[in-house]
Amino acid sequence: MDDFRLKDGEFYAEDVPLSRIAEEVGTPVYVYSRAGFERHARDFREGLKTCARVHLAYAIKANPNLAVLRVMANAGYGADVVSGGELERALAAGMAAKDVVFSGVGKTRAELTQGLDRGIGQFNLEHEAEGVALSDIAAGRGERAPCVLRVNPDVDAGTHAKISTGKAENKFGVAIADAPAIYARLARLPGLDLRGVASHIGSQLLSLAPMEATYRRVGALLADLRAAGHRISHVDLGGGLGVTYRAGETPPSDAEYGAMVARVTRDWGVALMFEPGRRIAGNAGVLLTRVLWVKPSPGNPWVIVDAAMNDLARPALYDAWHDFEAVSPSGERFVANIAGPVCESGDTFAKGRKIDRVADGDLAIFRTAGAYGATMASTYNSRDLVAEVMVDGGRYAVVAERIPAARIMAEEHVPEWLTA
Ligand code: PLP
Repeated sequence: MDDFRLKDGEFYAEDVPLSRIAEEVGTPVYVYSRAGFERHARDFREGLKTCARVHLAYAIKANPNLAVLRVMANAGYGADVVSGGELERALAAGMAAKDVVFSGVGKTRAELTQGLDRGIGQFNLEHEAEGVALSDIAAGRGERAPCVLRVNPDVDAGTHAKISTGKAENKFGVAIADAPAIYARLARLPGLDLRGVASHIGSQLLSLAPMEATYRRVGALLADLRAAGHRISHVDLGGGLGVTYRAGETPPSDAEYGAMVARVTRDWGVALMFEPGRRIAGNAGVLLTRVLWVKPSPGNPWVIVDAAMNDLARPALYDAWHDFEAVSPSGERFVANIAGPVCESGDTFAKGRKIDRVADGDLAIFRTAGAYGATMASTYNSRDLVAEVMVDGGRYAVVAERIPAARIMAEEHVPEWLTA
């Protein structure tokens, strides 16, 4: 369910006509629904209501806009961050440092120090050397860093290879078979308060089976670690729950997910941590775009829109599907290709797709663009950096200004030895 609906023949975001936003802010522009974020946050929490101790850390990589983060902070979420920049965003948006979890396979020593400076709640260690480095830094300050060890369960998430993170060949975590020995060595270090394990096997999961398999492996590891005398108080089960991008995709409901988690973790006796991203943000946003040209071709006509792969990278990166709908559909449909203006054939959003018939100047939306959309945008082809808007009932605000290409260019310098 989302908050972008037809009313009297025109698409609205909550109670704001999308044509008004296009008129006043221009296109392309991401449009978010505050109510959508809030509902998804509430539903996810509600799904886990039978689990005893739950800590929710929104994976801010999915959509790190400050206004979005403020909505999530108000909904009682902390943050899962993967860089110093994300950490500062979480804090700037009002999230408490103790509610921040720092994941990521390539944290620098400077970022580990930054996490300690800020007093974050937990570091998710990706490998032994990172734990040794964190211990050295923390012990040097007379501190013990709260942390867990991320394990790679070697489970196929059944998702796109580029967003799969839990197979043995992926770069994330330590092999679960090696975890007891690594855990034992890290647990002895003076600068660590090693308190449990973490796992995250990938994104856009449409089946609970790989998640359940992972959690069962994690449960077996817990038993081994406890048998070896370790005190385990926290387990981070990651994110990954999918959303509907396309009719026919039926991800598990929050209630189904929660029931599975409750069943598998019943006897664990730990605080459970979750890092949902896409599930919260995906269907809380659309990308609003204008049709520049409908270009005839020997095959299907090309609908050239003013959004491109630099604004929404997912189709080019992952062959991802985003539903495309006219903002004022006439009821007529046609088969077309949809592409942006960037000079790459990869800048194609859809091929041979039956869509609303659109003409030059019409407005349209790409749906389910709230996650991994604006945050991956670039200025490739010297295009402006896309703007973002949040709607709240009958009002809206620009929550990220469009950054003109000229401003980016102004940050570049031609050295004087090239102009002499
Ligand atoms: N946690 C970690 C460690 C991740 O790498 C990711 C994304 O891949 C997430 C959480 C969020 O995943 P999703 O947006 O699928 O919920």
